[in-house]
Amino acid sequence: MDKELNERIKCLIIGSGPAGYTAAIYAARADLKPVLYTGMLIGGQLTKTTDVENYPGYPDGVMGPEMMEGFHKQAIRMGADLRIGIATEVDFSERPYKVIIDKKKEILADTVIIATGATPKRLGIDSELEYAGKGVSACATCDGFFFKGEDVAIVGGGDTAAEEALHLSKLCKKVYMMVRNSTFRASKTMIHRLENTSNIEILFNTEVKEIIGDDIKVTGARVFNKNTDKETKLDIAGLFIAIGHLPNTAIFNPWITMDDIGYIKTINCTTKTNVSGVFCCGDAQDPSYRQAITAAGSGCMASLDCERFLSAIEHGVFE
Ligand code: NDP
Repeated sequence: MDKELNERIKCLIIGSGPAGYTAAIYAARADLKPVLYTGMLIGGQLTKTTDVENYPGYPDGVMGPEMMEGFHKQAIRMGADLRIGIATEVDFSERPYKVIIDKKKEILADTVIIATGATPKRLGIDSELEYAGKGVSACATCDGFFFKGEDVAIVGGGDTAAEEALHLSKLCKKVYMMVRNSTFRASKTMIHRLENTSNIEILFNTEVKEIIGDDIKVTGARVFNKNTDKETKLDIAGLFIAIGHLPNTAIFNPWITMDDIGYIKTINCTTKTNVSGVFCCGDAQDPSYRQAITAAGSGCMASLDCERFLSAIEHGVFE
């Protein structure tokens, strides 16, 4: 095979969100000569957001894309080899592991750090994209603060929507929670809390038809009640979509152990997966926190786990 098409890499990082870049920064400083493939969305989900006010170290906040540019530059300064490309296939049957990039380039990697993230599910209506970052958000923990004292709505009936509705209820005047059917998917405890929060109004059998705004920001939503067949307009400043995430992990099936949704299972509070030498960090293994700071923290952990693994092998200890 053409040499260019068959390259040996000590530490391969797949994904370029806070988890992947942090792993790259740590791995480069540990002289693991990491190569990072960015994936389709260079910089990850944060490049789709506006202000980030909860990432420590930025007292005045920072724009998401600017922050990710900083991560990128820092990884380069530390010596990481950052490349544009998508991992399209893997074979983890034996070490070194085979990873195919862009369906053509074959890499043999001694270790792999998976940092491919998760994609929030979309409602699938046009106005959702038009007002993304202008009042439409997929993360109440990240963006709820910008709607202090306002009326907002959240779509979804699972634990994430319930948790986010409760978070919003502490900041906002009123929170409409739209559940598409007549039942919640959330746990009983969460439902109990929702029902006992006075400024949350639950709208069952309700779907969002259109998000309304003045081009600059959201001002309302046109919603439809499937039971009554009636359409109404809600006056809201923000719409939060919490209908689940899809971890970007399909290519690692069947090698890597995952839960039913596709979140990779890591072992004993480490970033180790069921395949020795393959680690996972960030949202691809985190159904629960999904924050930039937690992703970055787990990226650091993955690099340290990787370094320990390679060092053990160098010293003749096989994991
Ligand atoms: P879930 O898949 O559990 O729930 C998704 C919700 O969104 C459901 O109510 C679903 O409705 C609704 N939905 C899906 N698609 C649409 C759509 N197109 N339009 C309107 N509504 C839609 O996702 P979550 O993110 O809530 O939770 C994922 C996992 O993480 C779960 O296992 C959950 O328990 C766990 N989790 C745990 C937490 C904790 O323990 N603190 C916190 C957050 C999550 P329908 O039921 O009709 O399909």
